[in-house]
Order: sequence, then structure tokens, then C-alpha cells
Amino acid sequence: PVRLRVAPSPTGDPHVGTAYMAMFDLAFARQQGGKFILRVEDTDRARFQEDSEQQLYDTLHWLGLTWDEGPDIGGPYAPYRQSERLETYRPYAEQLLADGHAYLCWCSPERLTAMREMQQKTKQPTGYDRMCHGKTREERAQLPGFTETPVVRMFIPDDVQLSWDDLVMGHTSAPRPDDQVIVKADGFPTYHLAVVVDDHEMGISHVVRGQEWISSTPKHLLLYTWLGLTPPAFAHMPLLRDEKKAKISKRKSPWAKLTWFRDEGYLPEALVNFLALLGYPPILEADGTEREVFSFQEFSDGFAWSKINKAGSVFNLEKLNWLNGHYLRELGTDDFAARLLPFLQRDGVLSGSPTLPELGRLQRVAELVQTRIVLLKDATPLVAPFYVADDDLPIADDARAQLKEGAAEVLDAAVAALEPISGSVGLPDGSGVEWTHDRIEAALRAAIVEGLGVKPKLAFGPLRTAISGQRISPPLFESMEILGKASVLARLKRLRA
Ligand code: ATP
Ligand code: GLU
Repeated sequence: PVRLRVAPSPTGDPHVGTAYMAMFDLAFARQQGGKFILRVEDTDRARFQEDSEQQLYDTLHWLGLTWDEGPDIGGPYAPYRQSERLETYRPYAEQLLADGHAYLCWCSPERLTAMREMQQKTKQPTGYDRMCHGKTREERAQLPGFTETPVVRMFIPDDVQLSWDDLVMGHTSAPRPDDQVIVKADGFPTYHLAVVVDDHEMGISHVVRGQEWISSTPKHLLLYTWLGLTPPAFAHMPLLRDEKKAKISKRKSPWAKLTWFRDEGYLPEALVNFLALLGYPPILEADGTEREVFSFQEFSDGFAWSKINKAGSVFNLEKLNWLNGHYLRELGTDDFAARLLPFLQRDGVLSGSPTLPELGRLQRVAELVQTRIVLLKDATPLVAPFYVADDDLPIADDARAQLKEGAAEVLDAAVAALEPISGSVGLPDGSGVEWTHDRIEAALRAAIVEGLGVKPKLAFGPLRTAISGQRISPPLFESMEILGKASVLARLKRLRA
């Protein structure tokens, strides 16, 4: 059975590229009935960030990407955190040293920098000049630029294999590598040694990673050969690019971070669909049409490496927004309201523990806003007016501007038209309901449009301002129904004052 892994480094906010790779890993693993593993590659202590690992779990879980083995859930090849596996790498490094495939290097960082600068200045090829190769510690110590604690370097042979058949890229080759460091002075393996040892020990059959790792693959193939191991298949995925075709990066684009999508109010199903489409064609229907909206299950069921597009995919947020709107409208009202709740709490519209009436009202308001937003966070200004005291409702400047001449008359007429309607919300059997949007609308139209002869657009602007404090709000009459008679009258009169 196939075994695939995603191997993120906990160096900050999880990158959207990590989710992208994980999706392709998982799609193939699920289709083949294999396993998907999460391994944390935390050997770079300089870039390590404490809360990054938890954020990885949270964001991947949020996306619905589940792993079968990992640091948080264990598994037959535990531990799955590289910093806990240092003893595992040691014998491999020792074997490479004993076989002459690797050597100790005592060059100080200062010497290496000076060497590199000299190479650049004299236009020589850059790379380690092998000063330490073939020398004992004592011999090397006589020479300048010596440090006490050595690193271990690969001894790259002249006939190093530089090409392979890639599942995505086809026949692929990379430039000749330098004598790469595989064990650092702090005793930690570098990525190159750790990734090869772990992929082997964990039985990984397919390595899916970004094209930025293509230059590393010859080093990895060499390590597999030296250690007498069978390499996995490689699938180097096109990098995600921005509109200018530059690789998207966390330094430049907020949307390189997975947490950004969650905080903006994208639905995980929309992001998953979007990410799949970045590397993968739409689903081809039996009648020859293409369908861009599809679930992870469908993606996984029809998965084929040959369908992955080799060119970089442009990250088009408009497309994502379109998908998000689509998925939002597909949600049942209960589900939609439940997904809004954390945003309303975050934005201070509702408390951490809302009351039952507050939650009941949310169900009704949610129905009104569901078709009117693109992102979950967009709901906050639309929903907020339903949860403030009438006297505290903020009135936006552009909404106040709607209160032109004649607004006072309109507000007075509205109050007079609504007062006679009973505020009754009826009995549980549905009888006795008086305060309905139909009755409210009929009364207001009769009084203002027909009675005062004011055009509907001018008639209802001031009412909208009074009720919501905003120029754009959910439908007016439905909003009035939900707010209830007392609140509606109080808000109308407040603006009149
Ligand atoms: P930055 O985004 O600031 O350039 P980085 O590239 O160093 O940072 P990392 O945190 O090292 O980002 O990358 C995390 C993971 O995301 C790596 O597996 C990397 O291959 C992948 N990745 C980074 N950029 C992209 C991209 N543009 N498309 C796809 N995957 C990417
Ligand atoms: N730790 C590497 C990363 O952060 C893993 C690359 C690979 O998949 O080999 O992307």
C-alpha cells in the first residue's frame, strides 16, 4: 500500500503551500487505500517557532485534511518529530563517514564566508573547496579558519546522477550539488539527511513537494544509493504564484498564510476546491462539460498524476471568492449560523456564551444575510444592528446622509402606520402572528408611498438608516419583523428626535 507524507517545518504561520501539498498527498493516499502521514521537520533550530506546530494541526484540521500517523496521534513509526529522532540519524551518518561518502569539515563560518566572497570576486564556481577532505583533525588544525566542532559533508562524486523520472514533471534534471552539509555542528542532521532517513524508515512510497526542492533531489538520490536503499517516487508540484507570476510568499502576500483564510471567513470546502483547481483540471462530465465545483472526495476518486498541470498556478482570489459565495449559499441555515457565530463573537457582536434568545434571533438573521455576503466576516456589520440596544445603534455617516429633506415626515408616517399593528409574534402553533414583514410592508407602502406620494427609494432610505444605522442592510421589512415592534418604533423615534 502507498504511504505519503507531508513534512512541514514549524517555522511560523503554516504556509498555504503546505496544505496544497497535503491535499495531493491525501488524495492519492485515499484513492489507493494507503496511508497519509504528518511529520514535523524541526531540525532547523534557528527558525523554530513554538506555536507553529499547533497552528499546523489546527489549520489542516480546519481544512478537513486528516492524517493517519503523526506527532499528535502517534503511529507505528513514532516519534514523528525529527528533533526526537536524533539517535535514528546517527548510525546513517556514521556509515556514510566510514564508507568515505562523507567527511568531517572543521571550517569556521568566517572561513566559509571569505571563501565564498573570493569565489564570487574571481568569478569561480561557488561551492565548498574541500579544504578538510582527506585530512585528520590534527592536520586540519594546523591550517587557518579551524573550529572545534566539525560538520559532516557529503562527498559528491563526479558521476553524480542528476536526473530522474518525476511523476509530475516527467524527465527532470537538476544542477550538480555542492558538498552538502548533512550533520550540523550542533549535532542535528540537516534536512537532506533527515528527510532521506525518515522517508526510508517510515516506508514512504511517494514524495510530493514543491518544485523549489528539485535542486535537492540529486543529493537525496545519492544518499539512497550510498545507503543501499530504494528511493521513493518523486512528484514535484508547481509552485503557487501571484498575478505577477512570482512565487507567493508569506513576506509579500497575507494569503500565503493558512490562518489568513480562516480569519477572513473562507469556508474550508471552498479553499480545498480552489487549491485543487490550482493544480488540477475541472471534472469532465459525461456530456463533455467541465465542472469546477467539486468535493475533496471527487478529487480523490478521480486522481491521476498525469492530470496535474506542470506550469505554476496563479492564485486568483476572485475565483476563490466566487467559490466561497457558492459554498456559503449551499449551506443549510443552521450550519451557516453555526459558522457565523465565532466571527460574531470575535468581532464583539455576541458574547462568548450567547443566550438562547440571542441564538434564536441569529437563526432568523442568518437567513437574511446568507445570500448577501462573500466571506463570513462580511456578516458582522449586517448582523450587529440586531444585537445593540436601540439607543446605542451607531448611525454611519453615509447612512445619515440619506436623511434629506422630508425624512422627518417619512419617519413620522412610518411610526403612525406601524403603531396600530399588534406586536404579537403569535402562538407556538403559528396563529395570532401580527407583526409580519408582509403586514409591515403593506402598512408602510400605504402610508408613505401612496399616502405621502414619496417614491419607494426615497421612502425607505430613512427607515433603513433608522433601523440598521447603515446604507446597506439586510431586507428592511424582514429586519423589522425580527427586531420586533418595540425596537422598531424606538429606533424610528430616536432618529426623529
Ligand atoms: P516565504 O513564504 O516567506 O517565502 P518560505 O518559502 O520560506 O517562506 P516555508 O515556511 O519555508 O516558506 O515553506 C513552507 C512550505 O510551503 C514548504 O513546504 C514550501 O515548499 C511550501 N511553499 C512555499 N512557497 C510555496 C509556493 N509559492 N507554492 C507552493 N508551496 C510553497
Ligand atoms: N521540511 C520540508 C518543507 O518544509 C519538506 C520538503 C519535502 O517534502 O521534502 O517543505
